[in-house]
Amino acid sequence: QERSPFLDFSTSIQDNDLVLAWLTRDNTKPIRPTANGAFHTRFGSFQHNHILASKYGSQIPSSSATQTGYIHVLHPSPELWSLSLPHRTQIVYTPDASYIAQRLRIRPGTKVIEAGTGSASFTHALARTVGRKGRVWTFEFHEPRYQMAAQEIAEHGLSSVVKPTHGDVCKNGFAHSCGETLDASAVFLDLPAPWEAIPHLKTVVAKSKITRICCFSPCMEQVHRTIEALQKDQWLDIEMVEVSCKRWEAHKEMVRKPEDAIERLRDIKRKRTAGLNKRNARVEAERAAAAGREPDAEVTAAAAGSESVAPLPTDYNPWGKGKRIHEGDEGYEWKNVSKVEAELKTHTSYLTFAYLPPPMQDAE
Ligand code: SAM
Repeated sequence: QERSPFLDFSTSIQDNDLVLAWLTRDNTKPIRPTANGAFHTRFGSFQHNHILASKYGSQIPSSSATQTGYIHVLHPSPELWSLSLPHRTQIVYTPDASYIAQRLRIRPGTKVIEAGTGSASFTHALARTVGRKGRVWTFEFHEPRYQMAAQEIAEHGLSSVVKPTHGDVCKNGFAHSCGETLDASAVFLDLPAPWEAIPHLKTVVAKSKITRICCFSPCMEQVHRTIEALQKDQWLDIEMVEVSCKRWEAHKEMVRKPEDAIERLRDIKRKRTAGLNKRNARVEAERAAAAGREPDAEVTAAAAGSESVAPLPTDYNPWGKGKRIHEGDEGYEWKNVSKVEAELKTHTSYLTFAYLPPPMQDAE
């Protein structure tokens, strides 16, 4: 059985294995380390031999003498692949992909039709979910895109799961050039005109099970036309959803009272005055010694007086330097706050879902 980094997990990195090099949060690059090769980045150069001697997940320091950067070498997954793949088209990102897969009830063994293949981002997510007992028939009419996807699928050891086909599903349907008998129970259409492909589906979906469909369209006019086509072919429970995914950050913030701030300002003033008084006393002592007289009693008393004022304890300072306090530490008052991070990287489209019951069986 052919090994696939998307279906089989491994901790060790072998020669020419697919490795996803995590450079920054927005920059992950696919590499295939081979003996004596090197990976050059703006963070430094990374020797392939060093990567081959490491495990997936390791941090690799730069081997350049002048650069101190590092990368992480990660095991492929459809999620990471969608962040690092060579883009040929708009792609489906993980927030949409995961929602679609669960709404279409895709699981190990499911047979799925996908069109178009595009950059094969969603194809990888589908392949991992259906596994070796399932099947993904994916269609693309743009020949160079089809060829690139077919090559990637073969290189990623997914040929036993994914069948890429070059063809126009709107004009010729799905069975035309695929060469296999299709009986899908899930359909995903990411096409400019899904309503032209929908009429071709009835002959290629499962005859004994419910078939679920999702059409991925960026504008509402496309959704309307898709719904009309679905209704015409008796698809049921038609529903449109938009996934709007944001990362929320929740943390605790120390409650800082105005009295603490006032006390802190007083402390700063006291320290400044004490410093001045000490300096004056020292200068006065030097002058008095040079003149052979006693130092001014008032100046000496002021310095002594400021030394006797106890400074604020240094272990609690919510407004500045002091003991390092960790979020949520006991003995302080905290309030829960949340912050919304920028939109996640996702090409937001409208998702139109529906299902088609199996044809009624003739009564005996
Ligand atoms: N879902 C894909 C992914 O995650 O990488 C991206 C799909 S891309 C947005 C749409 C693709 O559909 C394009 O590559 C386009 O060439 C293809 N396409 C458009 N009309 C088609 C048709 N009638 N038959 C087959 N493919 C088609």
